[in-house]
Amino acid sequence: MIEISEVRKSYGNGKSSFMALRGISLKIENGTFTVILGPSGSGKSTLLNVASGLERPDSGSVRYGETDISALGDKQLTKFRKENVGFIFQQYYLLPNLDVDRNVKMGANLAGNKEYSHIIEAVGLGGKEKKYPDELSGGEQQRVSIARALAKNPKVLYLDEPTGALDEETGRLVLDYIDRLQRRLRFTVVMVTHNVNIAEMADTVIRMNSGKIVESYTGQARRTAYEIGW
Ligand code: ATP
Ligand code: MG
Repeated sequence: MIEISEVRKSYGNGKSSFMALRGISLKIENGTFTVILGPSGSGKSTLLNVASGLERPDSGSVRYGETDISALGDKQLTKFRKENVGFIFQQYYLLPNLDVDRNVKMGANLAGNKEYSHIIEAVGLGGKEKKYPDELSGGEQQRVSIARALAKNPKVLYLDEPTGALDEETGRLVLDYIDRLQRRLRFTVVMVTHNVNIAEMADTVIRMNSGKIVESYTGQARRTAYEIGW
């Protein structure tokens, strides 16, 4: 379980400081799919960054089982992230001079995994291993970044508006891959989105406003992206 307790995080200092997270507490069960909704500036990305260890909270703790990552030193935290956490952004951040196979291999290498070609197949890119990012569509590039993250075999996959740069149909396809992979491999997913329909795919939905969780519900029947028609 991931347990976030009383996390606060502000940016800047003095008069220009801004409190992006104002005391967030949240428990995420292993193997579940959580969606975070909320208006622009409500702290969704900041929460993902702090939960994943990309950024440190000012106060409060983030625990993965027995491990309090807020208490880890920089080297230990980097190691923890490499071994446990995958992160996907709106932009794909693929390396333009590496083909699909080597982009995904990079993810596998980070975690010391040798096997990764099955993941390229699983995101529907079998046969495109030798293509370079600029030879792929946006949806294909995002699927490469998903494969790269999953090649690490992470326990938790964080996604910050993964379909934000995609048209609706392509976004739906990408979500469907994430959904199917999650059901099969049972890693934990925490995803930020602006699309309220996507929330129907989740086990737990969290709504944020002004750096706080204002609504949280769990336990609805989970549906697929295609059932929802998104
Ligand atoms: P969006 O939907 O637009 O992505 P969000 O909910 O992800 O918004 P955050 O990016 O978490 O919002 O930002 C929360 C608040 O913190 C915003 O007011 C933002 O301006 C501020 N903020 C975020 N990152 C920084 C930073 N690096 N420096 C200064 N302020 C920041
Ligand atoms: Mg954001």
